[in-house]
Amino acid sequence: MLKGSYMIYADFNGSAIPHEAVKAYLSTRFEKGYFANPNAIHGHGQKILAGMSKCRRTCAKVLGADTNQIIFNSGASEGISAVFASLLHDKNQKRKTIVISSIEHSAVVNASKFYQSQDYEVIVIPVNSDGVVKISELEQVLKKKAQDIALVSIMAANNETGVIQPYQEISKLCQKYQVQYFSDTTQFIGKHDFNFQESGMDYAVLSGHKVGALIGSGILLVKNPEKLRPHIFGGGQENGCRGGTQNYIGIETLAIALDAFEKEKNKMGLCLERRLNFEKKLKEKFKNIVIIGEQAPRLASTTLVAYPGIHGQGVQIELESQDIFVTTSSACSDNEPTTSKVLKAMNVTDDIGRGVVRISLCLGQNPDAYDRIYSALENAYNKLAKIKNY
Ligand code: PLP
Repeated sequence: MLKGSYMIYADFNGSAIPHEAVKAYLSTRFEKGYFANPNAIHGHGQKILAGMSKCRRTCAKVLGADTNQIIFNSGASEGISAVFASLLHDKNQKRKTIVISSIEHSAVVNASKFYQSQDYEVIVIPVNSDGVVKISELEQVLKKKAQDIALVSIMAANNETGVIQPYQEISKLCQKYQVQYFSDTTQFIGKHDFNFQESGMDYAVLSGHKVGALIGSGILLVKNPEKLRPHIFGGGQENGCRGGTQNYIGIETLAIALDAFEKEKNKMGLCLERRLNFEKKLKEKFKNIVIIGEQAPRLASTTLVAYPGIHGQGVQIELESQDIFVTTSSACSDNEPTTSKVLKAMNVTDDIGRGVVRISLCLGQNPDAYDRIYSALENAYNKLAKIKNY
């Protein structure tokens, strides 16, 4: 580690460090705040309930939703399961087709697989080599099969590549063909401007730990909450949409983190500029370097980069020795890293797919974070390329 340098956590897409405003709030919350069941009728319960309503208003405002469209839950995986269950776990459901894209997160893929085992057909829409879903293919499917489609589930931004999907166009198509549209917005919200009502989506999700709030908190956004069938029954909390005593401390942190994002989102332009400079410098230094999804619109804070032939895990270890924490998106099988399903869907070859490292920062990043990461990557690539005799 360089003397005097600070640790850089560059895995915000994996899990964000709680926002400074959240940390400050929590440092006194346990001494000052109330603890009670928000559904209790005594004074403490009512105080918590009132606090939760205030948080709901803050979240609704930042997310461009009505307060009744906000359903607090435990995170994105729960929200995704709730949407699938509400639409598909219904014996009156006559439509028997689910449409997803080839780059969905396992939370969507595994939900689809489950309903496939329950006699639903799953149609997978491919992406182009930059990782953007092929809208024309989606339209073909909608044209042919709209009457039989129970759900279109296509994400807003990909967790590995940061590639932003044309969700507004997808919404319009789904509206045109009168099909329900759920978008996995887990990586999009808190990293990009988002307005639920303007998005045209029927459902969207958010995970607290991706936006700088507490892990175990989250939001399901529902256009028509009166139509949602609960996935967890409990005592009818969240207006009957999601049972179980609410995680009110998590909810408090959601409101704080989203409010902080709203105040900070003007930093997105600067963040994008720094990321583009960083990528440009890397490409000038190493001619073979590949930035995945380079030509597509991507989240301001995400880069997925590979040096062909050099394993990502080797690079990750080198960076970690410099106190910089990144991830690779490849899984390891028999000690040999494999190209992730997302990258395979983009036709990325194995020598690149095995080499990727994901650098994902936050909007409030340290101004010289990319410079430090650049130097560390330069050292890592030089060292590993020499060992490989490039
Ligand atoms: N969807 C996407 C795109 C994600 O990146 C993740 C988490 O990595 C999830 C869903 C699931 O989120 P959680 O594990 O917080 O429920």
